[in-house]
Amino acid sequence: MTKILSGKEVAASLKEKLVAEVEKLKESGKAPSLCIVMAGDRPDSASYIKGAVKRCTDIGIDCHVEKLPEEISQDEFLEVLDRLNNDSKIHGIIIMRPLPEQISEDVVKYKIAPEKDVDCFNPINVSKVMSGDSDGFPPCTPQAVIEILDHYGIEIKGKRAVVIGRSMVVGRPLAMMLLKRHATVTVCHTRTKDLAGEAKRAEILIAAAGKARMVTRDMLSEGAVVIDVGINFDENGKLCGDVDFDDVSEIAGQITPVPGGVGSVTSTVLAKHVVEAFKQQEGL
Ligand code: NAD
Repeated sequence: MTKILSGKEVAASLKEKLVAEVEKLKESGKAPSLCIVMAGDRPDSASYIKGAVKRCTDIGIDCHVEKLPEEISQDEFLEVLDRLNNDSKIHGIIIMRPLPEQISEDVVKYKIAPEKDVDCFNPINVSKVMSGDSDGFPPCTPQAVIEILDHYGIEIKGKRAVVIGRSMVVGRPLAMMLLKRHATVTVCHTRTKDLAGEAKRAEILIAAAGKARMVTRDMLSEGAVVIDVGINFDENGKLCGDVDFDDVSEIAGQITPVPGGVGSVTSTVLAKHVVEAFKQQEGL
């Protein structure tokens, strides 16, 4: 019988610890705070922001959304960022992407203060993840995967882990984080010759390709732990992951559902990073 790895359960457990921690930290007279910067008005960004603000506020983190016009120039955008970087009352900053086309991500990413960069946008934080330095902030989604494995006591050390996807937001940093935890890691991507063969060797399989239900039972070994990062809509408009949940459910040992899996943990990891940034900046 396949065990469901509930992201909601992991998020609730993390939240409980954070609520208690923030309550105590507030005795210092200061409160952790997050600023989300959004240029323009994308509906997917708006729904992400709504979820993140709700989760952070519930935990006791002050949230502020800096809404900027779609047509803001790069210089004006950088001025706003500079102000936020220098505002000692703001401890974490998230910049919603994609940015409007006149603003270059490659310029902006160097300008966000690394100590406030709670979702790993600045190359300094990226390089810390790549070099195994736990001092920075890893991106929230890969960290959510690690939180799920840890919550359910799934040993990472020595395991054969296969990651499908090599993007800078999920697959690649996650591969490095698993390597840091002593897994033997294979990263698969669109040019991988024998995806099913590679995936079948996994004791822990992580799907982060963004292709609806692409992982099927023939790609899994009996008892494998399956973490589904994908958020897709199928041809009927139904939300689904990268894994064909029904098809693999007899084979997988443990599996995260979609919805209710990795996505449920991400905003709580964001809150955890803001609390960490607050402690670092306030010397608590
Ligand atoms: P991306 O498009 O940037 O990267 C996808 C990666 O998968 C690429 O490296 C590509 O080489 C690989 N890939 C694509 N099709 C493949 C195939 N058929 N075989 C093998 N490899 C293939 O996507 P992303 O931003 O990394 O996101 C991946 C998925 O995770 C998406 O569904 C996205 O919506 C989801 N996501 C979820 C969360 C969350 O909180 N749960 C957060 C971010 C992204």
